[in-house]
Amino acid sequence: MIPYGRQDITQDDIDAVVKVLQSDFLTQGPEVPRFEQSLAGLVGARHAVAVNSATSALHIACLALGLGEGDWLWTTPITFVASANCGLYCGAKVDFVDIDPRSYNICPVALERKLKAAEESGNLPKVVVAVHLCGQPCDLEAIHALSRRYGFKLIEDASHAVGGKYRDEYIGNCRYSDVTIFSFHPVKIITTAEGGMALTNDDQLAASMDRLRSHGITRDAGAMTHAPDGPWYYQQIGLGFNYRMTELQAALGSAQLARLDKYVAARHALADRYNSLLASLPLTLPWQHPDSYSGMHLYVIRLKLEKIKSSHLQVFESLRRQGIGVNLHYIPVHTQPYYQRHSPASGALPEAEAYYAEAISLPLFATMTHAQQDEVVAALTSALHQ
Ligand SMILES: *Cc1c(COP(=O)(O)O)cnc(C)c1O
Repeated sequence: MIPYGRQDITQDDIDAVVKVLQSDFLTQGPEVPRFEQSLAGLVGARHAVAVNSATSALHIACLALGLGEGDWLWTTPITFVASANCGLYCGAKVDFVDIDPRSYNICPVALERKLKAAEESGNLPKVVVAVHLCGQPCDLEAIHALSRRYGFKLIEDASHAVGGKYRDEYIGNCRYSDVTIFSFHPVKIITTAEGGMALTNDDQLAASMDRLRSHGITRDAGAMTHAPDGPWYYQQIGLGFNYRMTELQAALGSAQLARLDKYVAARHALADRYNSLLASLPLTLPWQHPDSYSGMHLYVIRLKLEKIKSSHLQVFESLRRQGIGVNLHYIPVHTQPYYQRHSPASGALPEAEAYYAEAISLPLFATMTHAQQDEVVAALTSALHQ
């Protein structure tokens, strides 16, 4: 089976992890701050807080932004459930904004319409999570302008977009947002096995997220209620978690980060090749915003169902039968039973549902060969003509 995504582990990665195993620190040593500083430095953010997953990063970002009971978090329905669950973790309510039919990202026009209505009914969101689906940056300038006008905080869920750029600047610099989140799950662009990071330019948010990842504890005398009792002293000044990243993960992350640009370039070359090989098939191919450089995490095609005899399910099953590990990113979150029971969408989301009825993610990973890609194209051609 050709998987839809997979990691690339080199001898450098293995050496970096082994070196940590032989060192004094398996956790809370020098590797985590080194990884944080390298990534923050690369993308141009002031602070980075490494954690054990992007899900944890979303959680502590929401808490640091003050999201709580009675508040609203809005996001796109076409995302992994984690982008919405972080709101529920904080006791907030979650609602969804429909996607743009071309980029598949949260639609700024739909967002503005919904904000206007929410202002009238006094239900404005405290936090909006904008997801850079497939690695393609959202319309950050438009969403940022709305955040100023309507007073919400903006989190970029850039789980798909590390290495991507918006107007020639790396995603993660938080020029338009309060916090940006990355994921280092093995299917993503670079990996730490499990892992994530929250980046921000705000000193207080960074300090708050730093405490939240480690039990709400501070060792900063300035943040304590009284002077330290002695050199052993720390204070718990909030309620946090153990969301820390290990030294092994951070060393792997730093080794992977050295190849980030190469990985994203390889993904672009493969995507360009898909674009030309698939051009004559009855498909809508991914649209690329001219102002941005996608992280190219996923290559999503949409079937032109009116032009083919098979159903979406039949094409998908045929591809799997032929050994192609296709996937579907994502099942609209508002259709999940948990959301239908606990936080149902307040309005119709027709673009998200139309997307779900047609979308298929083709295999794409940095080390994919042309032969593997040709195999995918042949299988898809046969699936569409059956
Ligand atoms: C993978 C992913 C997450 C969660 O990442 P983890 O590191 O596995 O917690 C969140 N949001 C999106 C959009 C993702 O793709």
